[in-house]
Amino acid sequence: MTRTADEIPHERMLPLERLPVFFNLAGKRVVVVGESEAIAWKVDLVAAAGAVVETLSPTPSAALREVATARRNVTILARGWTGQDFVGATLIVAAAADEAGADALARAAKAAGAPINIVDRPRFSDFSFGAIVNRSPLVIGVSTGGAAPVFAQAVRGRIEALVPESFKAWALAARSWRPEVLASGLDFLARRDFWRRFTRLAFARVEKPPSLQDRDSLLEEAHAASESSARGRVTLVGAGPGDPELLTLKGLRVLAGADVVLFDDLVVPSILDFARREAARINVGKRGYAPSVKQEEITALLLRLAREGKNIVRLKGGDPLIFGRANEEIAALRGAGFEVDVVPGVTAALAGAAALGASLTSRETARRVQFITAHSKEGVLPQDFDWTALADKGATTAVYMGNRTLPELSQRLLEHGADPETPAFLIERASLPDQRIISGTIADLPGKIAGETIKGPALLLFGAALAGL
Ligand code: SAH
Repeated sequence: MTRTADEIPHERMLPLERLPVFFNLAGKRVVVVGESEAIAWKVDLVAAAGAVVETLSPTPSAALREVATARRNVTILARGWTGQDFVGATLIVAAAADEAGADALARAAKAAGAPINIVDRPRFSDFSFGAIVNRSPLVIGVSTGGAAPVFAQAVRGRIEALVPESFKAWALAARSWRPEVLASGLDFLARRDFWRRFTRLAFARVEKPPSLQDRDSLLEEAHAASESSARGRVTLVGAGPGDPELLTLKGLRVLAGADVVLFDDLVVPSILDFARREAARINVGKRGYAPSVKQEEITALLLRLAREGKNIVRLKGGDPLIFGRANEEIAALRGAGFEVDVVPGVTAALAGAAALGASLTSRETARRVQFITAHSKEGVLPQDFDWTALADKGATTAVYMGNRTLPELSQRLLEHGADPETPAFLIERASLPDQRIISGTIADLPGKIAGETIKGPALLLFGAALAGL
């Protein structure tokens, strides 16, 4: 029995607490009521966005006066507000001492037809200020709808880490290159290809701002690709062993840029959330013993999507180049003239070692680490292992896809002179919250797992270096 690749359907947007919109305030009149430091910060913010800011403030704080001195587009009127002040305002920002004051401000704003934000009073506010990541012209706003500003700040901090400073320069370059790209003679698809290449370069070279030379070589590449019509590209990305935190930053960025994501069963669903909303997500799960999508079908699908010009991420559990049949996919794609990149991931053996909290190497007992699969093409224990190497006391071995054939592996190891006392561990769902470790020796581990149900992926680690755990 086989399975066909199934695409996860697009979902409608779930209920949205606030609609993030990006207001163009250049030259617009913004009226501010208040005098505190918090108000001064808001004044600075709207002034930075280019607004003409009128601040109604009978006794302005030092911070507010400082902003007004520093910014030419900020004036302070030393008086209280009237409803007339709000007429014709694009936005109003105000502070209120109490609910009655907030209510009066909100009513006056409504009468004037201008949206208002009252500091720390979400009930009276039409809009709120999010936490901001500023790489202008690239701007990111984070909101919890007032539920948890501290949390929003922490989320912002995380995004700051993901969006390098240099993205400012890339966004500026995009703006200034846009006319040339439009006039370059590239058609719509080729221009999209240009911007993809641009994005890829920005993500790959985070530390370096773009140059005009980059622009010209990207244009050249886009021209060449549009002639060869091989525009699609594929990146094999290692999703890591399960815990989404173990996805690399690069993997995350590439994933966020994909049009289509083809993923295996090993990939935990929350990692797919890093893809764009509009990205198609296709499950091409291959499971050792369960019905699976045939490798030829996956390869054919990759080729078809690449021919359509898609930016494809092939997301594989762990590292894509370890027991992931990546060769077949890479060869077919390169053979058809497509570029293939690889973003490594944390392979299961390393997550297993982390689960044990033990080093796989040791200067005394293990100067070699070997990764093997105990599952041949035919689904049985491969017979052509180098048994001397596996029984070697000076090596640590990680066995992938090995829980079914463990009894036979154990027996053959002992026949080839392995020390029966060699510590051995079965680590199920390494790095995930329900990770489980079954400990023993290569002689007794098969007996220990015989009565257990192993649901998740499991890895066997054995070797003298793992003694004493
Ligand atoms: N490319 C993957 C391996 C794919 S083969 C990698 O680099 O990790 C699939 C096998 O990997 C499973 O049968 C199991 O032996 C192992 N595996 C993958 N994820 C695992 C996890 N979270 N915990 C334990 N073993 C895992």
